[in-house]
Amino acid sequence: MNADCLFCKIGAKKIPAKILHADEDVFAFEDIGPQAPTHILICPRRHFSSLNEAAPEDQAVLGKMQLVAAELARKHHLLHGYRTVINSGAGAGQTVFHLHMHLLGGREFTWPPG
Ligand code: 5GP
Ligand code: ZN
Repeated sequence: MNADCLFCKIGAKKIPAKILHADEDVFAFEDIGPQAPTHILICPRRHFSSLNEAAPEDQAVLGKMQLVAAELARKHHLLHGYRTVINSGAGAGQTVFHLHMHLLGGREFTWPPG
């Protein structure tokens, strides 16, 4: 845990959030500023700031994050489609530097993304 990290604090329940999934590797919670009717953030418990800092030991958790996303999408009935996004670096719009995957659903999406 990184004592200065917002998402580490959410994972440790030191800052409140609507937690939707928690296990020993991964936790997921509702985004405070939703960009779609369903907007969930999925994080590894181990603190690393972005994909750029992911290590070989993170291979399993990176896979698990995607399986958790699919499970949450099923639970939220996102049958028509959903989008998973990882912003890596400020130039891609990353603002919180604890790796997280966005799960967005409940509306239509366009391509290319903005
Ligand atoms: P990024 O821009 O880094 O890819 O995504 C960061 C996300 O974290 C944003 O969608 C933002 O709304 C969300 N966020 C920022 N602060 C908080 C917070 O305190 N609680 C929750 N639940 N989400 C947050
Ligand atoms: Zn963190």
